[in-house]
Amino acid sequence: MESRKGMIAAATAVILACAAWLFYFYGSQPEPGDAIVALKPGACSLCGAKYAAEFGGEPAKCERCGQLGLWYALKCANPECRTVYPRVHDVNIMQADVACPKCGETKFREVQPDDLLQ
Ligand SMILES: [Zn+2]
Ligand SMILES: [Zn+2]
Repeated sequence: MESRKGMIAAATAVILACAAWLFYFYGSQPEPGDAIVALKPGACSLCGAKYAAEFGGEPAKCERCGQLGLWYALKCANPECRTVYPRVHDVNIMQADVACPKCGETKFREVQPDDLLQ
């Protein structure tokens, strides 16, 4: 009898833990109308648009042309170039080398908000 009680207590603990996790999970989701805080610099490889966008997987749907061409944007580290370009890469390869389409530089910097206003 004692082991059966123990089983029930353990099962109850698991259910409570799941309920707490679900409560936390849903509680941490932003409410509709909340400000979007996770904007990332994006660049479209199809229409050339550059803007801050919220996207998870890549490529994302471009707001401007409606096609799947929006990638995370990088800024060329070559001081002569400084092109902002989309990080187009094979999504199946974790660490893909991406070179600047203009000068071939493989070093890049983070895109600043000002860079998107070109
Ligand atoms: Zn586009
Ligand atoms: Zn470059």
